[in-house]
Amino acid sequence: MYDVIIIGSGAAGFSAAIYTGRAKLKTLILEKGVIGGNTAQTDLIDNYPGFPFGVNGVDLMEDFRKQAERFGTEIEMDEVASIEEVAEGKKIITSSGKEYLTRAIIIAVGAKRRELGVLGEDEFIGRGVSYCATCDGAFFGNAKVAVIGGGDSAVKEALYLADIADKVYLVHRREGFRANQTAIDKMKVTNNIELKLNKVVSSIKGDSLMESLVLKDVNTGQEEDLSVEGVFVSIGLVPATEFLAGFLETVDGYIPTNENMETAVPGVYAAGDIRVKTARQVATAVGDGVVAGMAVTEYLKE
Ligand code: NDP
Repeated sequence: MYDVIIIGSGAAGFSAAIYTGRAKLKTLILEKGVIGGNTAQTDLIDNYPGFPFGVNGVDLMEDFRKQAERFGTEIEMDEVASIEEVAEGKKIITSSGKEYLTRAIIIAVGAKRRELGVLGEDEFIGRGVSYCATCDGAFFGNAKVAVIGGGDSAVKEALYLADIADKVYLVHRREGFRANQTAIDKMKVTNNIELKLNKVVSSIKGDSLMESLVLKDVNTGQEEDLSVEGVFVSIGLVPATEFLAGFLETVDGYIPTNENMETAVPGVYAAGDIRVKTARQVATAVGDGVVAGMAVTEYLKE
């Protein structure tokens, strides 16, 4: 029986665990994919306070993990399949068939990368199509690659790849960007990044490896073939909260909470990108995690 099980090992999950661990609550983190979540797949985090020259995402999350473990947090790699209310508290059932009992839960699962949904995308995953430049960029030294999207992730990926690849095309479906202005300005003066604006991807073509993207102009409908060896899809996030079906209501997959990170189910909290919120940043995920950790501690005292 755990006092609290935290689902997800990103910035929010570890921050919550540092607080519940320090409060001597028996804490387990369940993680289905990458320890450190999306942050651990980011090369340079330039806006997390306390690091005047930026910090590598893997290094930052490794320190979060060590700090949470120092206060007794256990970590297990498993995917949550469903949650049930039981007499003793809450039961978490994982896809490997394990069952865990806990008095409280913090959901900090973040959100996963959105897919384009075009012909060739699935076929060429790992053979040109990627969702993470930090993970796969090194395969594209001296190659031509494209990044799709106009948010912070896409611009960051383009800047990262510009140091590795020969040429980077940034393909975006309109002229305005969501990304922060500092990053946009930097991208615009980077010689080997070329903007392809008002374009969407119609399909991804190739043979054994991907060879080109078919781009469609959103104004004229005209199509062009863009020869690239790799494409990095950075078009936002989608929540993965299917495991909450029948247990907790979501809004477009995101979890509504109050300012104490409490959800509609007593003893169940949500923190980080998976919450209904506007700012999805490492710093705000940390804030959510801290609040959730403190709120759970109070709840369990009662
Ligand atoms: P965003 O939702 O911010 O941006 C997604 C981008 O993809 C938008 O430009 C959008 O276009 C475009 N897009 C969405 N769907 C499609 C589609 N089907 N085809 C083509 N283009 C599409 O996602 P991000 O992943 O960039 O960022 C997620 C959150 O994480 C944001 O809050 C962001 O600020 C934060 N973040 C912060 C970083 C930082 O260093 N501060 C780094 C990375 C992320 P349109 O604009 O037209 O809707």
